[in-house]
Amino acid sequence: MQIRRLKLTGFKSFVEPTDLRIEPGLTGIVGPNGCGKSNLLEAIRWVMGESSPKSMRGGGMDDVIFAGTATRPARDFAEVSLFAVQPPGAVIPAVELGADGEMEVVRRIERGAGSAYRANGRDVRAKDISLVFADAATGPHSPALVSQGKIAAVIAAKPAERRAMLEEAAGIAGLHVRRKDAEQK
Ligand code: ATP
Ligand code: MG
Repeated sequence: MQIRRLKLTGFKSFVEPTDLRIEPGLTGIVGPNGCGKSNLLEAIRWVMGESSPKSMRGGGMDDVIFAGTATRPARDFAEVSLFAVQPPGAVIPAVELGADGEMEVVRRIERGAGSAYRANGRDVRAKDISLVFADAATGPHSPALVSQGKIAAVIAAKPAERRAMLEEAAGIAGLHVRRKDAEQK
């Protein structure tokens, strides 16, 4: 899956609308401490369906919404859009991809009201989003997104945790979700 573009509004320190193009190849984010580098990586993980506020360094999911500063009031929503080219097979039923396989996934959270997702303009479920990224061998826990401290976590992981990382990388995590679903039916 190729990520082409990331748009943020009201997400953590990115209070004003921010639109970033991501070129093919390796992308590095550089800047002084506290400028928002980790927040950008968290935005990518969040729009892919991250459900743990703790792994977004927050107490609750509303903590991803711009909390205000001495000179700027807090916002009451945050929105992140990710434009990505989906590999063949990684599609959401009833959602049409763009001409070149591009899909725009949008996640929006309103303070006190939880979050909702859209894919190419259609309302979709959180589960559709997590499956489409799992099928594309990526997602919020993909080893392709190396967060601060992640290298040490890989080294210290227990065998079962390391296996889960390998399964994410191999793109079979989605199959486990579907199997669990089938077993419950
Ligand atoms: P380092 O180099 O130290 O790892 P970094 O570039 O990764 O820094 P981040 O951790 O992404 O920086 O950004 C931290 C900044 O984001 C802090 O100034 C923090 O106050 C701000 N921030 C985080 N959440 C919010 C929020 N909800 N509202 C406003 N600002 C926020
Ligand atoms: Mg950081």
